[in-house]
Amino acid sequence: MSEQILEQLIKKISKLPGLGPRSSRRAVLHLLKDREKLFLPLIQDMTEVADKIKKCIECGNLDQKDICEICSNSSRNNSLVCVVETVADLWALERSNVYNGKYHILGGVLSAIDGINPEQLNIASLERRLEVQKYTEVIIAISATLDGQTTAHYIAERLEKFNIKVTRLAHGVPIGGELDFLDDGTIAQALKARNILQ
Ligand SMILES: [Zn+2]
Repeated sequence: MSEQILEQLIKKISKLPGLGPRSSRRAVLHLLKDREKLFLPLIQDMTEVADKIKKCIECGNLDQKDICEICSNSSRNNSLVCVVETVADLWALERSNVYNGKYHILGGVLSAIDGINPEQLNIASLERRLEVQKYTEVIIAISATLDGQTTAHYIAERLEKFNIKVTRLAHGVPIGGELDFLDDGTIAQALKARNILQ
């Protein structure tokens, strides 16, 4: 019985990105070795995060408040909105320290293989934001993969009706590269050299 619950935990952890059964087993055994200093505080942190962290109703960022720190920050540029795939990508752009506008988390990219269609991405909510607020530019900052490029063009087409400047990141992001894995300098360069898509 006890082995069963242990296996259950290992199996669940092995499903996390970047982990497999082997590293999951090692992690769990490591946690059990140091219950007081590691395992219990970790459980506490996880409970707190699961409890308090929510999605920003405006941009999809993660925060403790309904409207995130970035959306509610009046000193940021209110006329720019940068479309990213994930919160990790938002963090990556924030680390580069060159962007001071708002964000919109897409939630992924279009993918025929993974069956991701436009309805599964936060495109409609982006359109709603553009209807309500007067933005002057939408910066598409998504992966330079084939799916990413298809998605960028798709979004640009959907936004045509708004008659708004739509740009995307320039070279600097390697083809096939994912934003979250780039160094800050590359991200800064790519953001500065962004070009017009529409
Ligand atoms: Zn927000």
